[in-house]
Amino acid sequence: MYNNRTKINALLTGDNIDFETTVMGWVRTFRNNQFIAVNDGSTNNNIQVVIALDLLDDATQKRITTGACIKATGQIIASLGKGQKVELKATSIEILGDSDAEKFPLQPKKHSLEFLREIAHLRFRTNTFGAIFRVRHSLAFAIHQFFNDKGFVYLHTPIITGSDAEGAGEMFRVTTLPIDGTAAKNDDGSINFKEDFFGKSTNLTVSGQLEGELAALAFSDIYTFGPTFRAENSNTARHLAEFWMIEPEVAFNDLEDNMNLAEEFIKYIINYALVHNKEDIAFLAQRLEEEEKQKPVADRSEMGLQQKLDFVVNNNFERLTYTEAINILKNSNHNKKKKFQYLIDEWGTDLQSEHERYLVEKHFKKPVILTDYPKEIKSFYMRLNEDGKTVAAMDILAPGIGEIVGGSQREERYENLVARMKEMNVPPEELDFYLDTRRFGSCVHAGFGLGFERLVLFVTGMTNIRDVIPFPRYPKSAAF
Ligand code: ATP
Ligand code: MN
Repeated sequence: MYNNRTKINALLTGDNIDFETTVMGWVRTFRNNQFIAVNDGSTNNNIQVVIALDLLDDATQKRITTGACIKATGQIIASLGKGQKVELKATSIEILGDSDAEKFPLQPKKHSLEFLREIAHLRFRTNTFGAIFRVRHSLAFAIHQFFNDKGFVYLHTPIITGSDAEGAGEMFRVTTLPIDGTAAKNDDGSINFKEDFFGKSTNLTVSGQLEGELAALAFSDIYTFGPTFRAENSNTARHLAEFWMIEPEVAFNDLEDNMNLAEEFIKYIINYALVHNKEDIAFLAQRLEEEEKQKPVADRSEMGLQQKLDFVVNNNFERLTYTEAINILKNSNHNKKKKFQYLIDEWGTDLQSEHERYLVEKHFKKPVILTDYPKEIKSFYMRLNEDGKTVAAMDILAPGIGEIVGGSQREERYENLVARMKEMNVPPEELDFYLDTRRFGSCVHAGFGLGFERLVLFVTGMTNIRDVIPFPRYPKSAAF
């Protein structure tokens, strides 16, 4: 057996001392030719491996460099030094993989996030990204736990979709046709997709919702958790071209049930991370605090990361309608003093992220659920309200992030749905399969989509979405 090691996290958190074991991991630092800080990714804390001055020959000792992979065997003893409970007194050291100290890009010092993004393949080996991606893992696990406990079915919706009804302009096309202009054409000059791999035009999915609805009207409660793709050219700190989305869809839920589910869900998963990732969140909170110190006092956030997460878990989200929000914004000093880039003057305009952030960060100072938006600025499948002007939509806005959830009660009435499709230029014949659910045993139902990376941003206190997905894809960038 090769892998007979003990994970460093288990050694540092366990109560046992005075036994022999082996650790394997990567060297973070090597001090005084005696103390090797070794990390194996199970925790941000390193184990201190102590080597007697005569244990290694010179040549081997020189190979203990930052980044090298080593195997250390010895006795776990109570630590004599400060900062750790136990250390490993080595009886043998084996170099598993050398790392040329001159060339290894990660030095034991602080690197900028921009620099680390360029070496995303190595950034896992830093404390910051170690913490981020362990938290990301926990959140993903908690999502399955939450829905499984509630009896939801985890549904895998297709990644390649044939329906281009939703979000047409921002889809990535999937094709095996030649791109050099020689693809077969129709009489009118358009591409003949009958010749394409699937015999029709196909794209990468922008959302699993429509397929999710089909399953919800059989299983009652389903959720999806998978990759989604948007070719929107938004080079922002909140948008990726490839991101992960969680989309529950529930039969017999109305808009209020939908809000209750979303709020309970968000609190549950944040709490899960608070309980299971204490050290990582404490580390990220510290990181954020140092970053905040660089800002002018007025721009610093009032709460630290830990406080902010506790606050979200323990307080109700503010719920109000779009119309109420517009009134607050219109009458705000911010609007009167023309501090918004887009001034609010009339009902019906879409909210920009500056408005969302004003509501969440300045006005309510807590997460906000906005409901009942004008139908013109929302999707065709959202249920038309009695007023004929608004739809049963809900967006959840989070401090520092803006929109984190978008959802709605769905239009379950066949006639209304077809009318809305026509109004919004969605050809009903393309979504005939979807309309079948309204033809055969339709029912009240609702669902939402939560952008996983936006949630990870919130929980880790990071500010750029490119830092919370291992290998970010965004305009002009698909490295690794
Ligand atoms: P936004 O206004 O922020 O672009 P949206 O209205 O396009 O969001 P939806 O279509 O409702 O978003 O998608 C559901 C959720 O998916 C959003 O609430 C958000 O959390 C997330 N999301 C949307 N687009 C992206 C993206 N490009 N990158 C990462 N997450 C995204
Ligand atoms: Mn968008």
